[in-house]
Amino acid sequence: MNDTPYWNPRHETMPRDQLEALQIRKLRNLVEWADIQVPWQSKRLRDAGVTADQINSLEDLRRIPLMTREEWMQGQVENPPFGPILAAPEEQAVRYHMTSGTTGKTPIRVLDSMKDWEWIAEMWCYGLWGFGIRPTDTVFVAFGYSTFIGFWGLHYACEKLGCLTLPGGAMTTEQRVKQIMDIGATVVASTPTYALRMAQEAKQLGIDLANGPVRRLILSGEPAGSIPATKKLIESEWGAKAGDTAGMTELGTIMIFECTEQPGGTHIIEDHYIEEVLDPDTAEPLPYGELGERVVTSFGRGFIPVLRYRTRDFVLKQPGSNCSCGRTFDLYDGGIRGRVDDMKLVRGTNVYPRAVEAIVREHAEIDEFQIHLFTEEGRRDEIELLVEIPDASIDTKHLISQLQKELAESHEGLRFGVSQVDNETLPRFELKAKRVLDERIVIGTEDELRGRA
Ligand SMILES: [Zn+2]
Repeated sequence: MNDTPYWNPRHETMPRDQLEALQIRKLRNLVEWADIQVPWQSKRLRDAGVTADQINSLEDLRRIPLMTREEWMQGQVENPPFGPILAAPEEQAVRYHMTSGTTGKTPIRVLDSMKDWEWIAEMWCYGLWGFGIRPTDTVFVAFGYSTFIGFWGLHYACEKLGCLTLPGGAMTTEQRVKQIMDIGATVVASTPTYALRMAQEAKQLGIDLANGPVRRLILSGEPAGSIPATKKLIESEWGAKAGDTAGMTELGTIMIFECTEQPGGTHIIEDHYIEEVLDPDTAEPLPYGELGERVVTSFGRGFIPVLRYRTRDFVLKQPGSNCSCGRTFDLYDGGIRGRVDDMKLVRGTNVYPRAVEAIVREHAEIDEFQIHLFTEEGRRDEIELLVEIPDASIDTKHLISQLQKELAESHEGLRFGVSQVDNETLPRFELKAKRVLDERIVIGTEDELRGRA
C-alpha cells in the first residue's frame, strides 16, 4: 500500500462543491430512511413539513427540526429502555452501551448492529491513520472496557488497521505503565487526564517514559487534548506526539480527529457527518471563526438516525485549507472548546473550566487541581483553585501568587483563592475528569440562573 496520509484519499481531499453534493445526497437518503423506519422521526419531519425529495441543498437541512438531549431522555422515560429512536428491531442488535452519566442525569442508552460496529471502527480509522498510526504499531488501550462506548471503537479500528492491540482494561495505573514498557507499545490511547496520570506514575516508578517506546498518543473522552498547554505537557512527559479526537455515545464513534500536521484543531469527518455551528440562544447559523454550539447530523449508524442533534458543545469552525495536510474537511479550531453547560457564573463573571485548565497546565509543577466554588457567609460566591505541588523544592508561595495573577487577568479581575493541598488528596480520573466542585448554596449554570431571573 502506498503510504498516503489519508485513510480515504478521495473523500478527504474532495473539492468542497463535490463534498457538499455528497452530503446532500446522503442527507436525502437519511431523511427518507428515518421517515420510513422511525415513526417518531417521521412525525417530527411531517410536523415540520419536510420530505426527502425537498432536500436539494444544505440550506434545506435547516428546515429539519433540531433535536435536544432532553427530547432523547424524555423519549426513553416514556418508552423505556431505548425510547422511540431505534430504526431496527432490538433483536438485531449485538451490543448495548450507555453514557457514562457524568452529568448526573439518566444515561442515554444505545444499541448497535454488527454493521454499525464496522462503521464505528471505520470512523476511528480516519483518525488513527490520519495521525500516523500504521499496521506495524503496537497499541496499548488504557481504558476500562465497560458499557461506556469510549475507546471500544478505537480498539476495533486498531485491529482493522492490523496493529497489535492490547486491551488495557481492569489494571492499576502501575500495571498499565509497566505493560506499556514491557511490550514496547508505540501508541497509547487514553483520556488527556489519564495520560498525565500515567506519566506521574511512571516517575514514581523511576521509569523514563520520554525515552521509552511510545511515539504517539491518541487522546479522547475529554476536550483537553486540544488545550495547547495540556497537549504540550503530555507530549513532553511522554516524549511523543499527542493527537486529539472526540466522539459521543449518541453517535457511537468519533466525528473529529487531529492530523499529523497538528494545526491546532481537529478535522471533521465530513463525508459521514454534517456539523453545523449555531448561536446557542437563537439557533441561527454562525460563519467560520465564530464560537457557537455544535449541531450534528450523522449518516452512518444503522440503528439510530441522528438528525440535527444539539450537542451543547462549544466549537469554532475554520476552513480545512487552514491546515497544510491537504484535506478539504473543515476544522474545529481548538477542538471541542467545552460545553455550554460547563460555564459557571461567579460574581457576574463567566468561568470556563477549560480556560482555568489552560492556565494551570502552563505550570508543570502542578500535578492535579480542582476548582472549588462555595458560598461565603451564606451569600457571597467564592472561587478557589486547589493545587497539588509534589516537588518540595518548588517556591510554592511564588507559584501561587503567579497563578492568582494569571487567573484574575484572564477573568475580568475576578479574584481566585489558590491553596496548596496535600499530595494525592484530590480525586484522580481515568475517564472524564470532573475537576469542578460546586458547593454554592445557589448552584446554577448561567442558563439556569437566566431562567430563574
Ligand atoms: Zn490537517
